[in-house]
Amino acid sequence: MSKYLEKVLEEVKTKNPHQPEFHQAVCEVLSSLEPVLKANPQYEKNAILERLVEPERVVMFRVPWVDDKGTVRVNRGYRVQMNSAIGPYKGGLRFDPTVNLSVLKFLAFEQVFKNSLTTLPMGGGKGGSDFNPKVSPHTPSKRCSDGEVMRFCQSFMTELYSHIGAETDVPAGDMNVGGREIGYLFGQYKRIANKWTGVLTGKGLSYGGSLIRPEATGYGAVYFAQNMLEKRGQSFAGMKCVISGSGNVASYAAEKLLHLGAKVLTLSDRSGTVYAEKGISPKFLEDVMTLKNVKRGELSDLVKKTKSVKFYPGKAPWQVAPAVDAAFPCARQNELDGADAAYLLKHGCKVVSEGANMPSTPEAVAAFLKAKIMYAPGKASNAGGVATSGLEMSQNSERITWTEQEVDKKLQDIMRAIHDNAWEAAARYGDKGNYVMGANIAGFIKVADAMVAQGVC
Ligand code: NAP
Repeated sequence: MSKYLEKVLEEVKTKNPHQPEFHQAVCEVLSSLEPVLKANPQYEKNAILERLVEPERVVMFRVPWVDDKGTVRVNRGYRVQMNSAIGPYKGGLRFDPTVNLSVLKFLAFEQVFKNSLTTLPMGGGKGGSDFNPKVSPHTPSKRCSDGEVMRFCQSFMTELYSHIGAETDVPAGDMNVGGREIGYLFGQYKRIANKWTGVLTGKGLSYGGSLIRPEATGYGAVYFAQNMLEKRGQSFAGMKCVISGSGNVASYAAEKLLHLGAKVLTLSDRSGTVYAEKGISPKFLEDVMTLKNVKRGELSDLVKKTKSVKFYPGKAPWQVAPAVDAAFPCARQNELDGADAAYLLKHGCKVVSEGANMPSTPEAVAAFLKAKIMYAPGKASNAGGVATSGLEMSQNSERITWTEQEVDKKLQDIMRAIHDNAWEAAARYGDKGNYVMGANIAGFIKVADAMVAQGVC
C-alpha cells in the first residue's frame, strides 16, 4: 500500500476512535484505489482522500416524544451529510437500536460511491435514530403502536427539517423505515414548510411516490447478478439461491428470483431462518410480505402454520442448505463471515450479490475474491433503490408519473450500466472480474474529478 494511503487510513483511525464500521468501509474502498491514485497525482495534490473521509456536516439531535402511557421518551437523531460534489445529499434513514455515528458514517461513505455509480446527480448522506419501533418502551413484548411511531417521526422531522430540502438533502427509507414512516415524516415536513416538495423518496403512490421504488433494491440486486451471469453466458433458471432477511430488500429479491425461474431456499429474520428444500412458493412469499408489512410479526410465528418449510431458530441462512448456487445477503452489515463464505464456496456457490450494505466481513470478501466467483459488493448491486429514488425525484420535479414498465426498464438499464462500468474499470486497472475494485474505482473517479474541478471546498 502506498505511503499516501497508509497515512490517510492511519489518520481515519486516530481521528475517529471507536468507529469500527466506518474504519472497515474506508479501508475497503481506499485499498482498491492505489492504481488510480498512482495514475492521477492531482488527487493526492488536492487532498481528495482526506476530504472524502471527512463528512461535510454531521447533525446530531434530541428527539423527545410521548408514548401511549403519557411517558416522555428521548432518542438520539442523526444526519450525516457526507459529500455533495455531484448532487444534493441522498441516502436513507435507519431506525434501529444499533444506530450510532460509526454505522451512519460507514453507510454515508458507501452511499457517496454508490450514488456516483448510478450515473445520476446525487451526493451521499445517511441518517436515522436509535429509536426501536419493534420494542414498545412500556411493554417490551409488544411493538410500538402506529401512534407512537407517528409521534416519534413528527418529533424527528421537526429537527431534521432545518437540514434537508429538495435541492439540499433528500432522505429515503432504510431498516425499519418503510412506507408508514416516510408518510409520517413527509406529512410533518409539509406542515412545517407549508409547501409540497419532493423532499423524501419512498413516498406512497398517492402523494408523489414512484412505481417500482419499493421493489427496486431487491430487483436491482437480482438484475446485477443477472448481468454477471449473462456476461458468462449463464442464466438464473433452476439456480438454488439463499437469501438472508425478509424485509424490503430480501422479499423483492426473492420475488424477482422466482420470476426468473430460480429456487429460493431461505429467508430469515431476527427469530431465525426458514429453509425450503424445494424452494419457497409465491404464496409463501406473499404470506411473508403480509407478515412483515401488515402484521409486523416474526417468521417463527408464520412457520408454525406451514409444514412445507423447516425453521432454524436463531440461525443465519448461510450454512443450512446442502447445495447453493447463489447467495443474496439482504439483512444487515457483517452478517456473513469467513466461515460462512467457506461453507458457501464448498457447497457450490458461484454468485454473491449483496442487497444489504457491507454484509460480508473482510474475511468473507477476501475468500470470494480469492475463489474468483461472481461477487458483487453492495455499493454496486444494491444501488437500484437509490437509483429509483433518483427517478422519483425526477418525476416529482417534472410533475409526471412514469408507468411500472417505464421505471422497471430504466432500473434495468441503470443496473446494466453499473455492472458494465464496474467491469470496465476493473479490467482497465488490471484485475478483470473484480467488481469490488471496479465499483470503488468507477464510483471514486466521478466524485474526485468533480471535487478537483470545484476547488478546495
Ligand atoms: P428491513 O425491511 O428493515 O429488513 C431488514 C431485515 O433484516 C429484516 O428481515 C430483519 O429482521 C433482518 N435483520 C435485521 N437485523 C438483524 C439481525 N441482527 N439478525 C437477523 N436478522 C436481522 O430493511 P431493508 O430496507 O430490507 O434493508 C436491509 C439492508 O439493505 C440494510 O443493510 C440496508 O441498509 C440495505 N439497503 C436497503 C435499501 C432500501 O431501499 N431499503 C437500499 C440499499 C440498501 P426482523 O424483521 O426480525 O427485524
